[in-house]
Amino acid sequence: MIYNEPSPLEVKVISQRFTLPNSAAIDTYLATDGYLAVKKALGMTPEAIIDEMKASNLRGRGGAGFPTGMKWSFVPRKTDKPRYIICNSDESEPGTCKDRLLMENDPHQLLEGMMIAGWTVGSNKGYVFIRGEYRYLIDIVDRAIAEAYERGFLGKNVFGSGWDFDIYTHTGAGAYECGEESALLESLEGKRGIPRLKPPFPAVVGAWQSPTLLNNCETFSAVPAILRMGGPAYAELGTPKNGGTRLFCISGHVNKPGVYELPLGFNLLRMIDEVCGGMRNGKKLKAVIPGGSSSPVLKAQECDVPMDFDSMAKLKTMAGSGGVVVLDEDTDIVQLAMRTMKFYQHESCGWCIPCREGTTWLKKILDRFHEGDGRSEDIPLIGELARNMLGRTFCALGDAAAMPTIGFIEKFRDEFEAHLLKTQDPQSPELIVL
Ligand code: SF4
Repeated sequence: MIYNEPSPLEVKVISQRFTLPNSAAIDTYLATDGYLAVKKALGMTPEAIIDEMKASNLRGRGGAGFPTGMKWSFVPRKTDKPRYIICNSDESEPGTCKDRLLMENDPHQLLEGMMIAGWTVGSNKGYVFIRGEYRYLIDIVDRAIAEAYERGFLGKNVFGSGWDFDIYTHTGAGAYECGEESALLESLEGKRGIPRLKPPFPAVVGAWQSPTLLNNCETFSAVPAILRMGGPAYAELGTPKNGGTRLFCISGHVNKPGVYELPLGFNLLRMIDEVCGGMRNGKKLKAVIPGGSSSPVLKAQECDVPMDFDSMAKLKTMAGSGGVVVLDEDTDIVQLAMRTMKFYQHESCGWCIPCREGTTWLKKILDRFHEGDGRSEDIPLIGELARNMLGRTFCALGDAAAMPTIGFIEKFRDEFEAHLLKTQDPQSPELIVL
């Protein structure tokens, strides 16, 4: 199933099968170059595959944007321990809805990517960790796995190579926190999904204390195409150090919201105007959240920018998970800040104090402020509380909650002040904006 009409500006690499009939079926996959890449990989050395991945400039599509080839090279191969391949399909970042399309429309592409990774690092076992709320996808991925076993592509002696590889699905229980790789590992092992102390990183000490290669669903899905076309050709599609294409999930106040595959470095304003048909109802653009709810907001005047990891970092925000939320001139930024914090407070696992207390207090203040009981000192207090969380939490969720709040307060302080003036009792002695 596809949720939006494709755009002629798309460069379809990993979404090329989305519009085919029975796109998830193994015969559709085989008719469109499916499983050619893993056959090619089985004739290559792990070093050669890693070189190809490095040349592709593929960076993790889950949010952090870490270079994939380098990550693969960290997994030790001279070890007696088993090694695991884990696909992070615990897609939960608000604004992001691409992994579901990849699993729904092209699950064999994902399985093939995991197989190539498994061969490269000498693993015999892979898990697809799927967000609990995506229950229907587990059936689709399980069906694809069963098809691959039936054809002899998974299990013993994959394609006559003498190498064995199994893949299993595992469902999360609905916690955003389990998208964090070490919390995911805890959950996979049947424990409460809270993060582990790092280092050691999962590449060395991961699932069941063994070396583990953990990548996002979209990252694995890009691997077969990279091996087929070659790393340099894939890199060419994007910008320097930001190789290839990615699925941008564009939501909010545009005429044609949807998931579009575009080259890294595609201009954000063109994305809104040419891919998504412009702003809804002819309204003016106010701001964009460029990479999922944890990325700090960009004001309209900052949006003439290439959408890649490095360009976003220069603007002190993130390309993140590819969730682009477009906001028009009528958007209430105070309400948006309040709603965003409500999400993070709810999803904080409570393990460390700065995040547990910080999100709780920020939510309380933003709630009260939004409801009309704001005080002038709340505006600097919100910024101070959020800044005090930054870099002081056990995992990245603390930063993910703090960063957008700081962005809203710093870039739209005038809206917080206007909200205060609008909602405060005119007789109040506190009607002084600091
Ligand atoms: Fe849990 Fe938040 Fe601390 Fe992460 S930062 S460990 S989510 S309390």
